[in-house]
Amino acid sequence: MPLGAKSKSSGIWSGVIEKCERKLVNWKCQYLSLGGRLTLVNSVLDALPSYMMSIFPIPAKVTKRLDAIRRNFLWKGSEDKKKYHLVKWEELLVSKRGGGLNIRYLSTQNNNLMMKWLWKFASPEVSLWKEVITTKYGMEDKWMTDGVTSPYDCSVWRSIRNLRLLWLLVKDRTKCKVGNGEKVAFRNGIWCGQETLKQAFPKLHSLSQAQETSVADLWTGQGWNLHLRRNLNDWEITSIARFHDTMARATNLAEEQDRLIWKGERKGEFTVRSTYRELRPIEEQKAGWPWRMIWRTKIPYKVNYFTWLLAKEEVLTHENLNKRKCNLCSRCYLCEEQVETVNHLLLHCKWTDQLWQMFIHKREIKWTKPGRITEVLKCWNSDGNAGKKEERWRIVPACIWWTIWNERNQRCFEGKNNNIQKIKINYLGLYYFWCKQVVIGNSEDVSNVIDWL
Ligand SMILES: [Zn+2]
Repeated sequence: MPLGAKSKSSGIWSGVIEKCERKLVNWKCQYLSLGGRLTLVNSVLDALPSYMMSIFPIPAKVTKRLDAIRRNFLWKGSEDKKKYHLVKWEELLVSKRGGGLNIRYLSTQNNNLMMKWLWKFASPEVSLWKEVITTKYGMEDKWMTDGVTSPYDCSVWRSIRNLRLLWLLVKDRTKCKVGNGEKVAFRNGIWCGQETLKQAFPKLHSLSQAQETSVADLWTGQGWNLHLRRNLNDWEITSIARFHDTMARATNLAEEQDRLIWKGERKGEFTVRSTYRELRPIEEQKAGWPWRMIWRTKIPYKVNYFTWLLAKEEVLTHENLNKRKCNLCSRCYLCEEQVETVNHLLLHCKWTDQLWQMFIHKREIKWTKPGRITEVLKCWNSDGNAGKKEERWRIVPACIWWTIWNERNQRCFEGKNNNIQKIKINYLGLYYFWCKQVVIGNSEDVSNVIDWL
């Protein structure tokens, strides 16, 4: 924790950047798959700057540097070799449901971590730091200090209190839970129902003399004293009856202090995690992105990632290499007839088709093979009509793709060609192994699993 430094200077972050870089050198990344590296990115590289981010606003320059470190690590580990960044960084920051990998936006995370201090300040617990800040800055209302305007004051609280209207965001997402009624504003606080009483009963409150008072001030012990300017007319009686009806729910003041309730969490407590979900910059809505088939299928973790890359159509086939200016003469390694695209190699190639047909014939379903990987993922579950054996059925596409991709790589890098029978056997072996790992018990043997198909 740097003392006496300017909170906005990027110099105070150099320690964090260095630490991130040092960590990377020590990891033996050549043994890690994309999934493994992503876990490290999310758990370690994200966590390192958390402490600093909870106190200081992160400068754009530092975000950029940390993003570059995370990005390079994700795609190439700690090796020096050139590796392609297969998917744009911005797409990776989107949630898994939206088509990304849910890597954290540092600036949103930074805001949320700082919001936590505002939340703590407004909570009823007494502590010395709150007293110091209250005495120094004075209170705007019962929950928060005045905005900090002087450039000479404590820069830490200034950045937390003033940062991009954070307090307004907190207010917007909370309602009040009345305890002794001393902190909750009677007219302007949301404490009885979903809106303020001023919004719910505008007429009545224009007649009230008590404008900015707390709940406790208007409670007499038996009922509410609104300090009306004049007696009510006959036609205003229904309005006051409705008012008392609403208030009947909230007439018990307690000993404890008033507190704020966070609307986004069931328990009412602010958490950085839930707020992050809510405040993440609006992501591209990918309606129909088959995230369940990609992430909820019980296959090895690295294959989930591989399927995700396939759905993005970004694995390094000849077509994708040529897009990256490799100038290869593109030919499918299996049939040697067509251009090697993701969709040809893994769906339409006559070799791959034989694996698909094994399942289609066995299940006696009519299936028109869609043109793209994402479409297969979308329709596979419903077309298979697998009932209770759904888990097994879901594994099939990823297993075909993994087998074909391995065969393709063997042909490409080692010059070894398996014939179609051997590929089918490899496939069935892998399928049985995956089923056994995650779906079926030990009692079922190979023939049972194959029979079911
Ligand atoms: Zn082919």
